[in-house]
Amino acid sequence: MFYIGQGERTVPIGPTEERHCPRCDEATAFQPQLKYKFGQFDLLFGFVYGKRYQLACSQCNHGWVLDTKETERGLDKVPIPFHLRYGSLVLVAIAALGASVYFVRHAG
Ligand SMILES: [Zn+2]
Repeated sequence: MFYIGQGERTVPIGPTEERHCPRCDEATAFQPQLKYKFGQFDLLFGFVYGKRYQLACSQCNHGWVLDTKETERGLDKVPIPFHLRYGSLVLVAIAALGASVYFVRHAG
């Protein structure tokens, strides 16, 4: 009944840019990406860890880690599903709701 999972995702966050790749030793397309790991309880609650932005060579995956704050400033939104970003908040909200229902029922 209770589903627990974890995983890792790499999400492209913008158009590729051409750069010289030291490993391929030629100009290749570099893809800006968000890479993160996540843990998940059921399909509703989750959390994200190990989040980082990177610029990776599309051929050999060699790349650079990008500055998180600077990269997020250039994004419309952080491409992490809502339930993973705010899953723990949802959990707290439901717990609070449950607690208030309990107290209302038991008041008077
Ligand atoms: Zn390369």
